[in-house]
Amino acid sequence: MTGSMTPLLERNEQFARAYTPVPLGLPAARVIVVTCVDHRVDPAITLGLKLGDAPVLRNAGGRVSQSVIEEVAYLAFLGRRLFSVQLTEDRSFEVAIIHHTQCGTGFLADPGFRHEASEATGVDEAALEATAVGDPHATVGADVERLLASPLLPPAVGVSGHVYDIETGRLTTVVNTRYA
Ligand SMILES: [Zn+2]
Repeated sequence: MTGSMTPLLERNEQFARAYTPVPLGLPAARVIVVTCVDHRVDPAITLGLKLGDAPVLRNAGGRVSQSVIEEVAYLAFLGRRLFSVQLTEDRSFEVAIIHHTQCGTGFLADPGFRHEASEATGVDEAALEATAVGDPHATVGADVERLLASPLLPPAVGVSGHVYDIETGRLTTVVNTRYA
């Protein structure tokens, strides 16, 4: 086989040689990460996540869309159903929303660019505009509010918002909301 996957398959072979399977269980870090698809912000690397640590939901911008809200609700259901988890103050979960600087979705704030993108992808212009992360501090705050306002957010789940700086590699917490 040739192609772009070849070197990655070799890396996987190295990985598999030293591999120990992780049994299905609750995420060890008790965190669900929501972040951008950008290949410079992989949370496994920036947050040092290991297998079994945390589910990661990614889309353009790391925006809290309806489908992200539904995924969070489903993961919480799965935890309750499979592991009979009762979330309490001492054993809570946190959804960490991470937006980042230099996000490619920022171009979508420009109407001309947005129109062009809409033509090329068939995605509605308003939908594209809703994903734009121009100022990650502002958008992450708005998305924390959106998730907290959702009736689907499971009880005893905290929501926090962070900004990852591409220049420094540092994550800054912008909002940290304990569950009610
Ligand atoms: Zn991005």
